[in-house]
Amino acid sequence: MPKTKTDRSEKNSSYYKKRRLPIRILMLTTLISIVGLAGLVVLSFNMDRLAKIYSDVVKIDYDNLNHMDSISKNFYRHQALVFQYMENFSDNVIVNEIEESAELLKNEVLEEENDFQDKIIGSLYENNFKNVYSEIMDYFDDVDYIFECGSVGDLDSAEYYMHNVLFESINDVNDVVDLFDTLLEDDVNRTQQVMTNHLEVSRAFAIVLVVLLAVLTIIGLSWSVNASRAITNKDPLTQIDNMDKFQSDVEKMLSKNKLKDYVCICSNIKDFTLVNQQLGSAVGDMALRNFANTVEQKLQRDERFARIGGDKFIAVIRKDHVDEFSAFIDRVSVTVDFHEEAKILQIETRSGLYYIKEGDDVGTVVDDAHLALSQTKLKAVDKVVFKENMLEQAYDRRTLLTEYTNAIKQKEFIVYYQPKVNLENNTLCGCEALVRWWKDDQIVPPFKFIPILEEEGRVTELDYYVFDQVCKDIRAWIDAGIEPVRISSNFSKLHLRNPKFADKVLEIVERYNIDSKYLEIELTESSGYEDFDAFTEFVDKIRKNGINVSIDDFGTGYSSLSLLKKLNVDVIKIDKSFIDGIGIGDKMNESLVKNIIHMIKDLDRHVICEGVESWTQAEFIKKQNCRMVQGYLFDKPLPHDEFEERLKSPVYDKK
Ligand code: C2E
Ligand code: MG
Ligand code: MG
Repeated sequence: MPKTKTDRSEKNSSYYKKRRLPIRILMLTTLISIVGLAGLVVLSFNMDRLAKIYSDVVKIDYDNLNHMDSISKNFYRHQALVFQYMENFSDNVIVNEIEESAELLKNEVLEEENDFQDKIIGSLYENNFKNVYSEIMDYFDDVDYIFECGSVGDLDSAEYYMHNVLFESINDVNDVVDLFDTLLEDDVNRTQQVMTNHLEVSRAFAIVLVVLLAVLTIIGLSWSVNASRAITNKDPLTQIDNMDKFQSDVEKMLSKNKLKDYVCICSNIKDFTLVNQQLGSAVGDMALRNFANTVEQKLQRDERFARIGGDKFIAVIRKDHVDEFSAFIDRVSVTVDFHEEAKILQIETRSGLYYIKEGDDVGTVVDDAHLALSQTKLKAVDKVVFKENMLEQAYDRRTLLTEYTNAIKQKEFIVYYQPKVNLENNTLCGCEALVRWWKDDQIVPPFKFIPILEEEGRVTELDYYVFDQVCKDIRAWIDAGIEPVRISSNFSKLHLRNPKFADKVLEIVERYNIDSKYLEIELTESSGYEDFDAFTEFVDKIRKNGINVSIDDFGTGYSSLSLLKKLNVDVIKIDKSFIDGIGIGDKMNESLVKNIIHMIKDLDRHVICEGVESWTQAEFIKKQNCRMVQGYLFDKPLPHDEFEERLKSPVYDKK
C-alpha cells in the first residue's frame, strides 16, 4: 500500500517525537559514557607509558650512581694504601705488598671505568665522565711517580710530591666525582619532579573527566527516568493518561476523601470497528487521538480522563459538571485526514455512570462504572447510571456461566425444531433447529442465555452440541424410515475466528453419515463483515460439501445489498422485524420488503421470511414470489416428538 500524506505527517507528529525522545536521551547518555570511558582508558595508558619512561630514566641514573659509587670506593681504598705506603716507607716488605695491592685496586678502578665508559658514551654525562677519567688517570700517574721515588729511596721527593701534587690531584678527582654525583642526583630529582607533575596533571584531568561523566550520566539518567515515567503514565496512542495513572490518581484522591462529589464515567465509542474498516486503521488511530484530546480539553480542575484501551475511556468528573461533560462526550466532532483531505467524523459514545460514595475503593468505582456501561448495550440505550441491583444481575451472569459448564456435561440442552413452509402448497419444506435449556424442570428460552454466552465467547461449544444432536436425530429418523427435511442450525459468528470451524462441522456430518441435502448452516449477518475473508472461506468449504449456508436476520446488521453480491451463500433469511411491518399500513416497510426480496432473487439467492404470524403477511410474501416462510402462523418451535409427527404429515390444512 502506498504511503499516504497522513502516514508521513503522523510520523513527524509530536506524539511520535515524544516517543523518540527518551531513546535519543538514552543514546546520548550512552555516547557520553563511551567517550568518557574511552578517555579514561587512553589516560590510564598514557600514565602507564609515562611511568615507564620515567622509571627507565631513573633506573639508568641510579645505575650510573652505583658505578660512580663503586669507582669512588676503590679510589678511596687506593688513597688509603698510598698513605700507608708513605707511613711504612722504610719497610720494604710492606711497601712491596702495598704496591701490589695498589696495582690491583688500580686495575679494578680502570676496569670499572672501562665498563662504565661503554654505558655512558653518547649520553649527557659523557663529558663529565671524561673529566672524572682524566682526573683519576692524573692521580694514578702521580701515584706512580711517588712509587718511583720510593723505589729509589727518595722519601723527601715522594713526600713533597704527595703533599704538593697528589693531594691536589685527589681533590680534583673528588670535585669531578662530586659534580658527577650532583648532576645525576639532580637529574633523578628533576625526572621525578617532571613525572610527578605529569601524573598530577593526568590525575586532575581524570578527576575532571570522572566528575563530568558522573554529572552528565546523572542528568541523562534523570531525563530518561522523567521521559520514561511520562511514557509509563501515558497511553502510547492518544498521549492522555493510561489506566495505571488513572487508578493511582483516583486512589490518592479517594484516600484524601476528595471523590465523594465525583462521578466515574466509563465510555466506549459506538461502532468504532466501522471507522477502522471503512477509513483504515491509521485514520481510526487519528480519530481516537483527536477524540481523546478534544475530551481532555473539557476537563476541569481535579478531574481525570484516561484511555482504558481500544475504544474505551474512563473519567472522574465533578457532580456539578457531569451533565455538561456527559452531554459533550455523547457526540464529539473530530477532524481526520482522509486521502489528503480533512474529514469530519461524528464520534458517538455509550456511557456507564457511577456516583462515587464515601468509603469506596478504586476497584468498586471502576468495576461499577464498567458494569453500568455493559448494561447500555443490553438495554439498547446510550447512558446507564449504576444501580445496586445490577450487581445482582452480574452475579446471575456468573452463576449462569458456572451452571452452563455443568449443563453441557449433563446434557440439559434440548433441540426444538421450527418448520419452514412452502407457500405454494402449504407443505413442510425444511426446519430450523433452536436450542432450549431444560433447567430445574423448566424450559429456559435462548434469549436468556445465548447473548451472554456469546459475549463471553462460550457459545461455540453449545452450537456444536446442538448440531451434533440435529445430525443424531436425522440419522435416527432415516433409520426409522421417516424422511427428514433440510434442517438449519444456528452458528455464532465467533466460530469464524477458528480456522478449523468447517472441518469440525464436516467431522460431525461424517460421524452420523448424513446426506448434505438435509443440512444448512445459519450464520447471523455480521456487523460490517470484519471477518469477511474467514466468512467466504468457510462458506466455500461447506458449500463444496453440498451443505447449504444461509444468512440469518438479514437487514438487522450493517451489510448492504451490494455486499450481498459478494457473499456466496444459498439462502437469505429476512428478519422478523421487516415482516412485522407488513399488513399494518406501513407502506414504506412493505415496499422495502418487496425490493429486498426482488433484489435477493435477482442475485439468484433463495429467500425465506422469518416470523410470519398472519395470512396477510403470508399472502404479501407469496405475491413477491417468495415461497418459503417460517413463523407462528404455521408452527412454533416444536419439541422432537411433535416435530416427528409433522414430518409424518407435512401438509398444513389451514385456510
Ligand atoms: P433466530 O435464529 O433468528 O431464530 C428465530 C427465532 O424467532 C426463534 O426464537 C423463533 O422461535 C422465533 N420465531 C419464529 N417465528 C416466530 C413468530 O412467528 N413470532 C415470534 N414472536 N417469534 C418467532 P428462539 O427459539 O427464541 O431463538 C432466538 C434466537 O436464539 C435465535 O434467533 C438464534 O439467534 C438464537 N439461537 C437459538 N438456538 C441457537 C443455537 O443453537 N445456537 C446459536 N448460536 N444461537 C441460537
Ligand atoms: Mg436462526
Ligand atoms: Mg433469525
